[in-house]
Amino acid sequence: MVKLTEGRGKELFRKYGVAVPRGVVVGSAEAAERATKDGSVPLPCVIKAQVLAGGRGKGGAVRFASTAEEARSAAAAILGSSFQGETVREVILEEKVAIGRELYVSFALDRTARLPILIASARGGVEIESVDDAAIDRQTIDPFPGLLAYERRQAAHALGLTGPLAGELDRLLSSLYRLFDREDAELVEINPLAVVGEKLLALDAKVIIEDDAAFRHPEYSAIRDDRTPLEEIAREKEIAFVQLDGNIGVIANGAGLTMATLDVLKEFGGAPGVFLDLGGTDDPKKVSEAFLLMALAKPRAVFLNIFGGVTRCDTVAKGLVAALESVPASERFPLVARIRGNAETEGIAILRAAGVTSVPDLKASAQAVVAAAKGGA
Ligand code: ADP
Ligand code: MG
Repeated sequence: MVKLTEGRGKELFRKYGVAVPRGVVVGSAEAAERATKDGSVPLPCVIKAQVLAGGRGKGGAVRFASTAEEARSAAAAILGSSFQGETVREVILEEKVAIGRELYVSFALDRTARLPILIASARGGVEIESVDDAAIDRQTIDPFPGLLAYERRQAAHALGLTGPLAGELDRLLSSLYRLFDREDAELVEINPLAVVGEKLLALDAKVIIEDDAAFRHPEYSAIRDDRTPLEEIAREKEIAFVQLDGNIGVIANGAGLTMATLDVLKEFGGAPGVFLDLGGTDDPKKVSEAFLLMALAKPRAVFLNIFGGVTRCDTVAKGLVAALESVPASERFPLVARIRGNAETEGIAILRAAGVTSVPDLKASAQAVVAAAKGGA
């Protein structure tokens, strides 16, 4: 998923003609002070953490300043801090506008209708999830004619906009829909869309680009903000590897068995921390590489659950044993294996020679690894 920061999102807004306040993105308190002194950002101004999480307003990551010194100290306070687990490396500095009303508009994909949807609400500035359903206007959009004039008028009505403001909204929605369409977005959200005199300004920008369209947008390939560093390495090596919150590492093959394995561990009170889907591989080196990556995630215990088909059990066993040898003793973790299917006997023998027993029963093996992760084995 390619989720753009507010700064990147606003660049797109400018490109497509959606009005945003004057502002810049900076990485230091000095640069923040300079921007207000050289006039690139008028005072008073707003300083916001450039993080992907929302709710910055409530969380203290949106501040106001009326002098260059205040801008500097606000930026200094936010930069380097952590907001919902993400370190703040940049802040957006923009003019503080006089807000009349805060509205909400977005285009998203309605996966049930399989159509784009225009969502509008007069209750902007708060999370849309918290807004009463009756206060939200939803219209599915036929992508072939695209967004139509009467749909834009209905949105204006829902937002209570008339006269010149209705005209502003009309232009804004056309631009925003064009952005949604051409950039292959799955979401473009403006929350809040501020009424400022007779103008509409996007004070926030959330843009998510559809993964399946990534091949059409090489310009976004460098943005992988939602991957952990290990997931990033895995992606480069083409290993299916996902980090979760728990402490048990899971190695399985095929998405179905991998998901089922996570479920079984949960069922027995375990907490999967990272999982790896070996898929269909016949190269022990690939298995070793994947296993060493998993070791870097420092699991408390690892559960190997393989059903041999295209991926032969002995291939997995060979790769695993080779990798085990290069994990330093101090970083070893209990390993519970369950391998069944193609070349099972050979695989079990290879594991046994390396001191790893294969437990054929799913329930028993899952319980054993949960106990091991809790420090019981
Ligand atoms: P978040 O959605 O993460 O809380 P926003 O960018 O939506 O962050 O900002 C939160 C609130 O801060 C907005 O609802 C608005 O009231 C205020 N705000 C944000 N940008 C400006 C601005 N340029 N001028 C005035 N107020 C702003
Ligand atoms: Mg917002």
